[in-house]
Amino acid sequence: MKIKSVRARVFQWKGKTVPPQGNFCSNAMDVLYAPQETMSTFRFHSWTVVEVETDDGIVGLGNVALAPQVAKLIIDEYLAPLVIGQDPWDYEYLNQRMYRATHAWGRKGIGMAAISAVDIAIWDVLGKSVGKPVFKLLGGRTKERIPCYYSKLYRTDLKAMQAEAQKFLDQGFRAFKMRFGYGPAHGQQGVVENLKSVEAVREVIGYDNDLMLECYMGWNVEYAKRILPKLEKFQPRWLEEPVIADDIDGYAELNRLTSIPISGGEHEFSLYGFKQLLDRKAVSVVQYDTNRVGGITMAHKINALCEAYSVPVIPHAGQMHNYHLTMSTLASPMSEYFPMFDVEVGNELFYYIFDGEPVAENGFLQLRDDVPGLGLKLKTEFLDQFEIVE
Ligand SMILES: [Mg+2]
Repeated sequence: MKIKSVRARVFQWKGKTVPPQGNFCSNAMDVLYAPQETMSTFRFHSWTVVEVETDDGIVGLGNVALAPQVAKLIIDEYLAPLVIGQDPWDYEYLNQRMYRATHAWGRKGIGMAAISAVDIAIWDVLGKSVGKPVFKLLGGRTKERIPCYYSKLYRTDLKAMQAEAQKFLDQGFRAFKMRFGYGPAHGQQGVVENLKSVEAVREVIGYDNDLMLECYMGWNVEYAKRILPKLEKFQPRWLEEPVIADDIDGYAELNRLTSIPISGGEHEFSLYGFKQLLDRKAVSVVQYDTNRVGGITMAHKINALCEAYSVPVIPHAGQMHNYHLTMSTLASPMSEYFPMFDVEVGNELFYYIFDGEPVAENGFLQLRDDVPGLGLKLKTEFLDQFEIVE
């Protein structure tokens, strides 16, 4: 079996969108002087879909959601020629080939995201070629089903957040991640608002369910030091990405300082990036994303690394490629789960592109033993609402 072609297309959503609410989530732009930029930069309405086809007609699907137009260009210009004509079973060689050939400019960020998409598609091919789900090629089933946490609760009106938490509590979720709306630029009033929102969600879900707190890089070390002691009484399971991804010392300092586990990694790349985070005890929960980190080949290695460091790994963003790794990894206790909503930030866009994403039941996800590959197909239902760039 040889790889015959690699096709990368950008799916740009043109359908209905829900405008983001006021301070729906803090982010890395918040410290800049032009606050009007902050929320508008925080949207992902395009996706790159990669199809790797073999000479015996198997088509594997991969995807990447960071800077999709650039990812497509990298795949077309640099990566496709490196894998076409090759045996997909040489996946380690192919992953290294893509990683090393683009190392001068691609080893972090969009270069790795593009590699990830091709690698994921190759794994889909492998599963399909032997009639096995991908998780069976990675170690198989380590859990009966995957516990997942409800991930949304953007910062809006507190009553609306409480109603949202109640709705998904009633659906059987036992873990919830909420977003902070305020950062350093909002001063002490923002601190108060942040604390109020945590209190409001705890009021609904109680203390026998897990609560995760998301900063999306919208704070800095000084601000985090001020607010963390006040958050401890709410017993969060973790506090996510308090500072920008490059501030590893900042993560390490905060992780030493507080009893709240600091989590991160959705903006980190490669095996080496995660070794650094773990060596420096910068995070207590690792949250790589398979379609950023270097694909399934790389994520599988990071899982092993996390196991050896006794740090749980809970991939970012839900999605099939992450679920297969979570299912096959003892070090991975649960998955993030974004339910399907109207298109808003874009975290939900993959539901509009792919068929086959599992739907949570009572806070659990299931992967089927009898569906080969990743178990995804391109969806036709919303096709006319995308502009597709070949
Ligand atoms: Mg996050």
